[in-house]
Amino acid sequence: MEPLIAAIDQGTSSTRFLVFNAKTAELISHHQVEINQSFPKEGWVEEDPKEIMQSVYECMERTCEKLCQLNIDISNIKGGQLLMLTTYTPTPQTTYSKIITVIHKHKTGLPISTYFSAVKLRWLLDNVDEVQQAVLSERAMFGTVDSWIIWCLTGGRNGGVHCTDVSNASRTMLFNIHTLEWDPELCRYFDVPMEILPKVRSSSEIYGWMKAGSLAGVPISGCLGDQSAALVGQMCFKEGQAKNTYGTGCFLLRNTGTKGSVAIAGAVVRWLKDNMGIVQSSSEIEKLAAAAGTSYGCYFVPAFSGLYAPYWEPSARGIICGLTQFTNRNHLAFAALEAVCFQTREILDAMNQDSGVPLTQLQVDGGMTSNRLLMQLQADILCIPVVRPTMSETSALGAAMAAGAAEGVEVWNLSPDHLPHVSSEKYDPQINSDESEFRFARWKKAVQKAMNWET
Ligand code: ADP
Repeated sequence: MEPLIAAIDQGTSSTRFLVFNAKTAELISHHQVEINQSFPKEGWVEEDPKEIMQSVYECMERTCEKLCQLNIDISNIKGGQLLMLTTYTPTPQTTYSKIITVIHKHKTGLPISTYFSAVKLRWLLDNVDEVQQAVLSERAMFGTVDSWIIWCLTGGRNGGVHCTDVSNASRTMLFNIHTLEWDPELCRYFDVPMEILPKVRSSSEIYGWMKAGSLAGVPISGCLGDQSAALVGQMCFKEGQAKNTYGTGCFLLRNTGTKGSVAIAGAVVRWLKDNMGIVQSSSEIEKLAAAAGTSYGCYFVPAFSGLYAPYWEPSARGIICGLTQFTNRNHLAFAALEAVCFQTREILDAMNQDSGVPLTQLQVDGGMTSNRLLMQLQADILCIPVVRPTMSETSALGAAMAAGAAEGVEVWNLSPDHLPHVSSEKYDPQINSDESEFRFARWKKAVQKAMNWET
């Protein structure tokens, strides 16, 4: 039996555990559990870390059961758990972003936004007694979701390893992307005690070993932020290639170091489902949007927690405009999907301008890419082909590749040359560029209204 390698894909909406054949990258088995999000106050989003861990263990155990049913010995899992996280967790205190604009972007590579961890941590330190007490009594540990999962899996209070990798650390606004260390000046600025931060390790090395469950003893040997993981999983190793991940948010990455995130992508579909009751399931939106085939001039800017790249305007709010007597929920569904595509186009345009070399094809992955209408709309709005691998779990594959490449894990070292052909679906633009530009120009007008909704 060929060796296997496993990955935990910890997203905002769900936890997934996936097991790959270490030689061919074929997905052997997986299990997925949805996780709850609560919105206790306007502008707040919370998830329960204990529920996240329960879902991780549930996914692992169920996947092991499925492997047993397939007569596959789980001791073939030689290594590499890995995790990644999505960083979509808007923070309530948007005012903080105004206070801290003095920080230089060049250190962190990030614009100032409540999107990143430092501001959330500062808020917790200022507002939650338990957090202040824990820091004073030296019991506090802070980390991103990956560090929480690694710490729990390696034993938690009983000797758990408190670490993260460079890709996740770089999303905190406390990490210096040039020295690859926590930055003392940034920590002082946010008044974050450095001893509560996890140790920063490379994305591919053994951090520790699983302590409990069916996989006890398996090394945890890779950790990657999901945007970086998908870039590896999609084999975007060539200069200039780019890919977009459509999950709760969107993350567009180009292999020149440039990247951009859209806060609300799949989240707009979830909002139509959970808050508006327009659909029963996320996938149903495709049927509605297809029934309309157009937004009928309706534009939906889902700036629920401000606008991120390329605007970075925390005070923006969502707006739906262009409504007429004729507008119905199908048009709204279409406008919601189109919003995801327009936001991606805005980031891609900015990247094209920066690099001077327009992208000729976009690789895509993530939960939303099962929506074929969305993929077609994206090709229409970008005026370039969109390519989706039929194996859409590329983030998990990338993370598993990092894990498999770790020293001491004697399994694969996948490179694109060794991989069997991975099939994909291609969506070519079907409307002319004039129509595309017209719709995009209208979208931009709607964005201006969302930015200035108070004035
Ligand atoms: P994450 O990794 O952020 O948890 P996923 O990649 O699992 O996200 O994608 C889940 C998101 O995609 C959810 O917000 C959901 O509403 C949306 N989604 C899933 N399937 C579809 C679909 N067929 N059409 C539109 N949106 C979808």
